[in-house]
Amino acid sequence: MSRFFSSKYDSIKPYVPGEQPKAGEYIKLNTNESPFKPSEAALAYAEEHARQYNLYSDPDCIELRDILAKRLGIGRDNLVIGNGSDEILNFAFMAFCDSSHPAYFPDVTYGFYKVFARLNNVPFREIPLNGDFSLETGDYRALQGTIFIANPNAPTGIALAPERIEEVLQAHQDNVVAVDEAYVDFGAESCVPLINKYDNLLVVQTFSKSRSMAGARLGFGAASSELIADLETLRYSTNPYNVNSYTQALGIGTLLDDDFSMSRCRIIIENRKKLAEGLDALGFEQTPSVANFLFARHPEIGGEELYLKLKEQGILVRHFTQERIKDYNRITVGTIYQVEKLLETLGKLLNK
Ligand code: PMP
Repeated sequence: MSRFFSSKYDSIKPYVPGEQPKAGEYIKLNTNESPFKPSEAALAYAEEHARQYNLYSDPDCIELRDILAKRLGIGRDNLVIGNGSDEILNFAFMAFCDSSHPAYFPDVTYGFYKVFARLNNVPFREIPLNGDFSLETGDYRALQGTIFIANPNAPTGIALAPERIEEVLQAHQDNVVAVDEAYVDFGAESCVPLINKYDNLLVVQTFSKSRSMAGARLGFGAASSELIADLETLRYSTNPYNVNSYTQALGIGTLLDDDFSMSRCRIIIENRKKLAEGLDALGFEQTPSVANFLFARHPEIGGEELYLKLKEQGILVRHFTQERIKDYNRITVGTIYQVEKLLETLGKLLNK
């Protein structure tokens, strides 16, 4: 750190992303990307329609918002587009949290929430999940502040039904409840239809997982037009050109061929079932994940040791050092070849 770095960031602890090795070096099951490329039609659309790069991108993402709004059955004014959903989440911490509106989120969840809270000088409290990592909505009833729920949760993959989220929304009508649906397309039910019923609901989604666009960086927030206007105020005060032309065009191309993305999600769901059965047979304990990853531990080997042994064998999974989950690894569901290779390698490592 230089002597010039502002002391307002004294408490900051940057997010540590999963390893991103060079292509082909590992079977990469550590950052929940899609193993599939966007469709040829989507890529061709992007090549053809990306604006001239000497001009700025559309700061309002009008075409993208229109097609996305239609896909979701909401209005254009109910959408804000981000450079990945992380950006929208950061705007939500900036917009809806302060010393009188602390942030609340589970103790085991997406690690970036804590980073955004510290970055924005927002007090936060982690609410412990149950022993089986399920979330007790009653634990959130009496809290006064902004609530962040990843649904399905990461890294457990456990989802709540929208009716359970509604219990939280009803108990917090004077506070924003942000529902992070990064993994919703792999088997959970979205809360987007509830934005017309609850003006305190912000739903955040990403194109990084189910739409194979992690490298292009595209995410969005869906909410009442008033909440969206607040987020737009911050976006326009930070970087109005936050989504580049190529990404906007690829987003549109991907939505025009959305059946392709959804069929890839169905393949991931099938592969998840095979991986879960394989892990079961090897003696792993798992959480009931409906995301594109599984969260598993083995009674005979520690989480870190298994992560390192897999890495030696050319397979990357994600290990977290947090005490409560240090015995586990989060494993992205890949292609059937990757699933089989992982199970074969685990079988050898565990002598099964
Ligand atoms: N929310 C959750 C729960 C995630 O796991 C991720 C991916 N790391 C994100 C949001 C952010 O995804 P992106 O910025 O790629 O849209």
